[in-house]
Order: sequence, then C-alpha cells, then structure tokens
Amino acid sequence: MPYPRLHTSCLWLITCLLLCGTARAQDIFYGTNQYIEYQQGTVPIILTVPHGGAIQPTSIPDRTCNNAVNVTDVHTIETALEIKKALFTKTGCYPHIVICHLKRTKLDCNRNLTDAACQQPEAELAWKEFHQFIVQARTTIQAGYSDQAMIFDIHGHGHAIPRIELGYLLDSDELAEPDAILNTPKYINYSSLRRLALTSASEATHAQLLRGNQALGTLLHDHGFPSVPSRQDPAPAPDDPYFSGGYITATHTCYTDTVLMNGVQMELNNAGIRNTAANRSRFAGAFAEAAITFLSTHFAINWQSCQPKTAIKETIVSHKEIRVYPNPIAPGDMLHVNTMSEDVVSFLLYTPGGTLIHSGTLDPCCRDIRMPDLPQGLYILKVTEIHGIHCDVYKIICL
Ligand SMILES: [Zn+2]
Repeated sequence: MPYPRLHTSCLWLITCLLLCGTARAQDIFYGTNQYIEYQQGTVPIILTVPHGGAIQPTSIPDRTCNNAVNVTDVHTIETALEIKKALFTKTGCYPHIVICHLKRTKLDCNRNLTDAACQQPEAELAWKEFHQFIVQARTTIQAGYSDQAMIFDIHGHGHAIPRIELGYLLDSDELAEPDAILNTPKYINYSSLRRLALTSASEATHAQLLRGNQALGTLLHDHGFPSVPSRQDPAPAPDDPYFSGGYITATHTCYTDTVLMNGVQMELNNAGIRNTAANRSRFAGAFAEAAITFLSTHFAINWQSCQPKTAIKETIVSHKEIRVYPNPIAPGDMLHVNTMSEDVVSFLLYTPGGTLIHSGTLDPCCRDIRMPDLPQGLYILKVTEIHGIHCDVYKIICL
C-alpha cells in the first residue's frame, strides 16, 4: 500500500478544471547549459529568482565591472519552490517561475545587460534567456488575464531590521507621504502597481494597495511576517536601509508603459524565513495565504479552475460531455464517469506533485473507478475519451 490511510471517512470534493494539461506536473524549459530554468504556470503569478544561483562555470570570469555587487541571496530558489508547493497544495494552480542558476559572481539578472554580464557573451546569452522566459510567461498570462496579473521578484536582504521589504519602485521618502499624495497620478505613475491602482476589482486606491487592510504587506504581517509597507509599518524610517525595487520590477511591470503586469520586489530577511527548511515551509504557507487573499480581493482570479473568472460560464457549458460523481466521495468508494458517447474512456489519477498513482480504461458498460486509499490532500483526475474528442481534468480535494 504505497499511500497510508490517514482516516476512514475521507471526503472528496471534485471540481472540473478547464484544461487537460493542468493534470501534468509543470512543463519545465531550460536555457543554454541549463543556466536558466522556466517552470510554466497556470495562474497569473510569476515568481522570479535572479540571485539564488550556485553554478560557477570557469568559462565565465567573475564580474568586476561597474562596481558589481556579487552577494548571493541564499535559499531564495528553495523559498520560491516552497511557495510553488504551498500554492499548489492550497489551490491546485501553479505559478510561473523563472530561475537563474548562475551564481551572482557570474551574472546578475536584476541589472541592465551591461552591468549584469560585464560584456561576457556566455553570461549575456543567459541574461537574455532569463528575460525572454519572463516575457514568455507574461505573454501567456496576458492572453487570459490582461493586466490582472502579478510578478513577485524574490530576493534576500541582510539589513538589521527583520522585516520583509516590499519594493513597488517607491522610495522611502515617497512612502512617507500621506495616502492622499500617494493617490495622485504622479505617484501612481511611479508605481509597479500602477495598473492595479486604476483597475482593481476591489476599487482599492493606490495607498490601500500599498498599506491598506488588504495590502500584501498587511496580509503578510497578519500571518506573522512583519513587512514594509503595510498597515502596521506604513513606510521605512528615513535612515532605514530599504530596497525599493530594481531592474526586473521596473522592466517587467506596468511601470514600463508597454507592460500590463503589476508587480513587487520582495526582499526577505534570512532568520525565520529563508534560513531553515522548516522556516521556508512556514513562510511559504503564509505567503501563499496572503497572495491568494491579495489576488482574490484585487484581481479577477478563479482558483477553482486556475482560469480567469470571465471564463467560468463557458467552462461549465462546454464540459457537460463528461461528468464525474459523486461529490464528495470516500476512499474505496466507486467514482462514476458519465459520458455522452460510447467510446472507451481512459483515466489517470495524479498526486499534487504530478506522480501517476492510478490509471485504467473504462468500457461504456461500467465506468466506475474504485478510489484508492490516499492521505488527505489534493489530487488530479484526467479523463479522456479514447478518440480524444473530449478530455476533462478534475481537481479532487480530500477533506
Ligand atoms: Zn537580490
């Protein structure tokens, strides 16, 4: 029995998803020499990790040009992957993730090309691939969500105050201004939340998005991770060191006129967040909760289908051909699959991580799947008519 039974009255919640591809583990793409990694996602969230890499090829000399900063943001890759895991566990949806595996001594993807690669061709190519993958993710997201999307550029800081620094491209002096000033067009135009400030589903003002009750910093603080700006800590003091956002945030958010996406540079303190596996897991859970609330409040996201809210009605109408029930269901019980056709139907059942745990075919006479004993959690069922005309994916949550 590969999966231990945790309880005997496990209930299942089955929700139809739109795309059959959602059942697979994320598609992963690599740049040249696997220096850059792109994990394709299913919701309008991009996590970028430019400073956590460890690869140091001897073919790329260490960066020394233009006062290069070479400090690694330790454990930021591991933190991003924990966030992915937490988001998927809670929603069944994947964020897009773009990672630079080169050590910062070789390449700094959060700088312009000249400063980033110091004119070294191998590093320049990796830099271009890093930013091309972000553009690819943006383009995919934009098709479904327009500007209802968010990029989180993940970093680690070593400043004395143990709090998360959220950089919206507004410096300490600007954040020190009263809300009424932050809500003027001049300040909104400085901001990486520029479009959200104009289009938020919650009609939140710019200042509310930065430090209101449903601001990211406030929500993180509410989950035990002090952050600035937030309702609890509206602005850094004038002399506090504070990262307000860098090249990635400026280039890949609506701060740039031609880009629709909103975003933030997220600088994480080390102790209590990045420094141990347990802390990374705890933080990832809290961040996932905060991000889900933030996006649910201010954006048009449907977490049940990993699709834009505007597609819900269409989804229901177009997926009547295959029905899976009952809902809920207990392990060991029969799951019935109803289809309109006489085709043989194949099914695949996956763990949240994409591991196949059960599969088979179902004749028209008896389309029942006996559910295996599984621990509490989320599972994915893919059902396909043999001729491939209809294919549905169901998110199954063990209650
Ligand atoms: Zn950094």
